[in-house]
Amino acid sequence: MQWICPLRKFPDHGDWADHMELDAQAWPKRVERNYSLVPTTCFNCESACGLLAYVDKESGQVTKFEGNPRHPGSRGRNCAKGPATINQIQDTERILYPMRRKGKRGGGGWERITWDEALDEISAKIRASLKTGAVDRVVYHVGRPGHEGYMNRVLKAWGVDGHNSHTNICSSGARTGYALWHKHDRPSPDHANAKVILLTSSHLETGHYFNPHAQRILEGMMSGAKLIVIDPRLSNTAAMADHWVPTWPGSETALFLAWAKMILDQGTYDRDFLHDWVNWADWLSADHPEEPQTFERFIELLKQEYSEYTPEFAAEECRIPVEQVIEVGNIVAQAGSALSAHVWRAAAIGNLGGWQVSRALHFLNVLTGSVGTEGGTAPNSWAKFKPELFDEPPAPDGWNELHFPPEYTLSHFEMSHILPHMIKEGRGEMDVYFTRVFNPVWTFPDGFAWMEMLQNEKSVGCHIALTPTWNETAFFADYVLPMGHASERHDINSYATSAGKWVAFRQPVLREYARRNGEEVEFTHEVNPGEVWEEDEFWNELSWRIDDGTMGIREHFMSPYREGEKITIDEYYQYTFERVPGLSETAQKEGLTALEYMRKHGAFLIEPSTYSKHEKEGWPTPSGKQEFYSKTMVEFGYPEHAIPHYRINSQVHPDNLKGDDEFCLLPTFRLPQHIHSRSANAKWLVEIAHKNPIWIHPKDAAKLGVSEGELLKIKTEIGWFVDKVWVTESIKPGVVGCSHHIGRWRRKQDSGNRFMTNEVKIEDMGAGKMRMRTVRGIEPWKSDDGDTNRIWWRDGGVHQNITHAVQPDPISGGHCWLQKVWLSRPGEGELYGDVEVDMEKSMAHYRKWNQWAKDRETHPRGERRPLWFKRPLAPRPEHFILSQD
Ligand code: SF4
Repeated sequence: MQWICPLRKFPDHGDWADHMELDAQAWPKRVERNYSLVPTTCFNCESACGLLAYVDKESGQVTKFEGNPRHPGSRGRNCAKGPATINQIQDTERILYPMRRKGKRGGGGWERITWDEALDEISAKIRASLKTGAVDRVVYHVGRPGHEGYMNRVLKAWGVDGHNSHTNICSSGARTGYALWHKHDRPSPDHANAKVILLTSSHLETGHYFNPHAQRILEGMMSGAKLIVIDPRLSNTAAMADHWVPTWPGSETALFLAWAKMILDQGTYDRDFLHDWVNWADWLSADHPEEPQTFERFIELLKQEYSEYTPEFAAEECRIPVEQVIEVGNIVAQAGSALSAHVWRAAAIGNLGGWQVSRALHFLNVLTGSVGTEGGTAPNSWAKFKPELFDEPPAPDGWNELHFPPEYTLSHFEMSHILPHMIKEGRGEMDVYFTRVFNPVWTFPDGFAWMEMLQNEKSVGCHIALTPTWNETAFFADYVLPMGHASERHDINSYATSAGKWVAFRQPVLREYARRNGEEVEFTHEVNPGEVWEEDEFWNELSWRIDDGTMGIREHFMSPYREGEKITIDEYYQYTFERVPGLSETAQKEGLTALEYMRKHGAFLIEPSTYSKHEKEGWPTPSGKQEFYSKTMVEFGYPEHAIPHYRINSQVHPDNLKGDDEFCLLPTFRLPQHIHSRSANAKWLVEIAHKNPIWIHPKDAAKLGVSEGELLKIKTEIGWFVDKVWVTESIKPGVVGCSHHIGRWRRKQDSGNRFMTNEVKIEDMGAGKMRMRTVRGIEPWKSDDGDTNRIWWRDGGVHQNITHAVQPDPISGGHCWLQKVWLSRPGEGELYGDVEVDMEKSMAHYRKWNQWAKDRETHPRGERRPLWFKRPLAPRPEHFILSQD
């Protein structure tokens, strides 16, 4: 299917192989430059927007990135992070060669090795682990995913239950709420066609689907849609909204249920959708068996059930005017089937019971019948292409309890943020641990616990960091293996960025450029800078070497086209693209194969619209309907949550913040120019934003006696940090904010990211206390890039995440990011950027929250978790039953 871009001016795709532009640097001279434009996709957030790499035919190098107008998700547009890919590939401090640790782990000593050495040494360690019969001691832990099934296939070929993710510090709260309704655990709002756009997010979906959603929100608004933004902080999006609703963090569910009551009271619910597609009869028979089992009685009982959620109640919980609850509620109640609603991270990952936010938000879609409609909100899997793989190894024969501990029966997904704490408790160890574009030491809460785990060679036998850039986690690796940025790697992408299904090809640009010039390339590291490689080929080669001929691994890496030979990366993508519906036919019209088409255009629209699929497919739940009533919750020991309610008193509910110095810290936002931890080497992005002050309302600043730029000490449950304040009305009184992605660091012995990292000193103060102190801020330096010597900023911010206690929600498993904090002036000798953490308190806090899950641990029929719930890499069915292990 061809895609017509709505942009008016862009290089004609017929000329991409030979495009001429005037050299902007040479102006006013008219100097012509000739480029080969190669499509790929951005790797700087999940959206995978289309990029066009401009390869200068004179130098053979990529000189800039622009949008790919033929990409149906991004339609030629990007956010600042897309074009800044050029900074990342030209970073003078990037890792160019495989490195092996020299000296003790974390000591900062490295030596360059060859890929052959890396592959041989690492494969030997994996082989030794697999030969013990263990299925849970080789682990792949992913930060930024985005290769659609590739790695799960590899792990299955190795026979390990070894997939871990970052989901439970990110989206597990939202996923749980959505999954309870219809198994699909992610929403796809059709903003462009909505009448009402309802965002519960900290800034344009908090970075995920950032630009593709942003452009569709604007389209919706230009067609008259009302934009409602629920956020305690005036984000850029909230500033553009028709209604900014600054709810108290953690109270959003109360607001949604009040609006649900308004819909019911006003009679604007969609009777047919509720009648036909909701399991109302299950609720009646379970909770009201004595009542008439009719739909009419269901509606009456529903009104009674939610009668407690008055606008006044919501206003009190949310700390907003009751008039606003009613005014905005009336807009939602009149949205009909064109209510596009979204929550991802943000409110759903902040507080105990955050998963209720998405459950209550989706309730509004269910009531208005805006599920899967034009302008409504659909399950994201309707618009996501799932590639068919050339080989599917059998599921792992075992269960990894470090990833899915038995007490977290409903978690979405792995309990990754308490991994160090479980290991410290003696629940397991790892022989080989891969961190893949993943930086938990910095990004996750309680980073000192990660440093402790990674430095203990008994807990982690070998740590391999696969990363395009240095990061705080790679400092504690045994091998650091350089992986490609967006234009240096293969991946297949498909995301539900709108109500249409597309597939895109992230391809190594210089490899395609070489191919256009008639050159054969075996491995992508031959054309990338230095010896930068990519995961796809790395995993193939590693897997081949793990198998000594007796392990049955190689049989999963055989070419589907050449009998008895190892698969190549081109064959992998050839096989996949040949099976994309409609792609080969479209390619043929241009005389191309499916793979050639994707190399040339970079993306393909599979289905232009994906509405109302439930009418053919139904819902993949036990009842086959939208589950208003969840028997699963009842069976797994949470009967009070059988239907959507607001029953959990969160850790930051105002009732739990009594003292004048007690506040709620909101860390769940980031500035739109940054990636969690991969933009510290992107000079353009860092110049725009590089510090993370504490946002504080003028009333609170006056109460505490601080003014703009002065220091505050922010004490958490396990430690404290000192930051400067930004006094602003853009934050709700009683709440202080601190953005999530700034405060990067390196020690004296570490390298990289000097645009954005402070040099710090880490000290063990004894008695379990750890301290980090900024020794030096950001400074210019001389390099091949003149800009490194022009750095004018000095303040690199403060690492706040490391002072956060882990707070695993007993139901979703998600980390509850909102922190109860105590604010004061710093004491004598406490300086800007200082961080201190008490490791004993960190374990005690983990144990307290972990116990809440243990207290409610219930396994109906011996099931570890609901059999119908998703698991990214599912072991064999028998391992879902506890007694079988
Ligand atoms: S929205 Fe995401 S994928 Fe798109 S350009 Fe920005 S960072 Fe890249």
